[in-house]
Amino acid sequence: MSLVIKDLHATLEDGTEILKGVNLEIPAGEVHAIMGPNGSGKSTLSKVIAGHEGYVVTGGSVTLDGEDIFEMSIDERSRAGIFLAFQYPSEVPGVSNANFIRAALQARLPQGEEIDAVAYYKNLYSKMDLLEMDRKFTGRSVNEGFSGGEKKRNEILQLLMLEPKYAILDETDSGLDIDALKIVARGVNATRSPERGILMITHYQRLLDYICPDYVHVMAAGKIVRSGGPELALELEKSGYEFLKDEELVTA
Ligand code: ADP
Ligand code: MG
Ligand code: MG
Repeated sequence: MSLVIKDLHATLEDGTEILKGVNLEIPAGEVHAIMGPNGSGKSTLSKVIAGHEGYVVTGGSVTLDGEDIFEMSIDERSRAGIFLAFQYPSEVPGVSNANFIRAALQARLPQGEEIDAVAYYKNLYSKMDLLEMDRKFTGRSVNEGFSGGEKKRNEILQLLMLEPKYAILDETDSGLDIDALKIVARGVNATRSPERGILMITHYQRLLDYICPDYVHVMAAGKIVRSGGPELALELEKSGYEFLKDEELVTA
């Protein structure tokens, strides 16, 4: 069981190549982190997996437990068990958070099966307690007027509720103060499981003080150029990305 990215190449619609042969395997049960300089293609990798428009896959493959995700619609990818936080609309006026998550869960059930409302709210409230979210939050429209920190917390709530096989979290730490960061990390740590693979993408080492990954990868110029254990993140914190060899940073 794993999410396997093989020699993935992707361009913008104008033909500019951004991903230049990404190789990465995330087995269920492991937490992998991708770090790397700004503009190295980290977000592009997650957007290509999510099926965002504006990118063209020109080579390679991404498989989820052996299934080619590029043959699935965006919806099918999510039902097959990939969670991408930003895949959700940033603002959905008029749809409450509670109903939004419930609809997403309902969509995964076999036809004719209904979510039990009492059990659903019990579960929702316990996850909200873990994330120290106010109960008022359930009635608010999805992401409408949320602060950056609230949006991130809401992403993690969705993650906790949807229990995907694989989660890709891009810049989960951006815009969070230290208290919010710890709460978000608590949520991510709570979803660690032998059945779940997690890929965390972050520009900063800070998040990894609270979520210790099994493996750290460095992306530069559209490729994974280094892989190692958690100590690699500490090295990056100490010396920045300067330790990368010039050829690893060359865009050509
Ligand atoms: P990272 O997340 O590592 O900072 P990105 O994946 O966001 O990097 O971007 C990689 C490169 O691709 C950057 O040079 C960025 O400007 C460019 N890029 C990504 N998406 C687009 C887009 N939709 N339009 C134009 N340039 C893009
Ligand atoms: Mg960027
Ligand atoms: Mg990015």
